[in-house]
Amino acid sequence: MTDRPDSGVDRALLLTFDDRHVHEWAAAAPLFTSYGARVTFFICEPDRLDREEVRLLRRLADDGHTIGCHGLRHERAPEFVAAHGAGAYLDREVVPALDALRRLGFPARSFAYPCSARDEDTDRLLLTLFDRLRGGVPAGRRADPCLADELHVPAGDVPARRVLPGCSVDSGRGSVAYGDDLSGVEAALRRSAEHGGVTTLYAHCVADAHEANHVTPARLEKLLATADGMALPCVGFDDLP
Ligand SMILES: [Zn+2]
Repeated sequence: MTDRPDSGVDRALLLTFDDRHVHEWAAAAPLFTSYGARVTFFICEPDRLDREEVRLLRRLADDGHTIGCHGLRHERAPEFVAAHGAGAYLDREVVPALDALRRLGFPARSFAYPCSARDEDTDRLLLTLFDRLRGGVPAGRRADPCLADELHVPAGDVPARRVLPGCSVDSGRGSVAYGDDLSGVEAALRRSAEHGGVTTLYAHCVADAHEANHVTPARLEKLLATADGMALPCVGFDDLP
């Protein structure tokens, strides 16, 4: 375990994982530790975590990783607001998730949008409850060298930038393999390493094969090694200034 920075982070990889793959995340903990990496886990359906999953999540939090919120039932924010109203979205989808996490000892300060579905109204609404939100850029962009323009947030902008765009680094889902070309992601990491600022990435399960979206341990290690080789620290959302 590495020490937390006592002052602000001026450059970082923000590596994040969504949904509820607690066993697989816990299995990847030694890999994170070996790179001195702290990451963020955005949890949905926190009321459905069993005792063992809560124990494993506590251990991840004790290792310095950030626990964030990903909604109670993984609802797409703009659609839910359009159908039921902003108040119902908070009352039924967000506040119960936040309360469930708090009851388990995880005071979540950040939120990742399910399916990256967001708009300015949902940002405004959720920023009354959270310090930071994570959105997304389309996964199809990750081989695009211009991705860095959208994904990289300059250091001077980080304290005030409360919605961070993330890019998927998942390897595949079920029998579908996504592309191996992450050159756009690597360009964003290089920009953060060389000029300061942050690059946010997201994945789901950590496994060689899984029916859900997943990143392979080999790809995860390669990403951590790439950031490490650039002297770009990997930190959690709660470590941000
Ligand atoms: Zn999700």
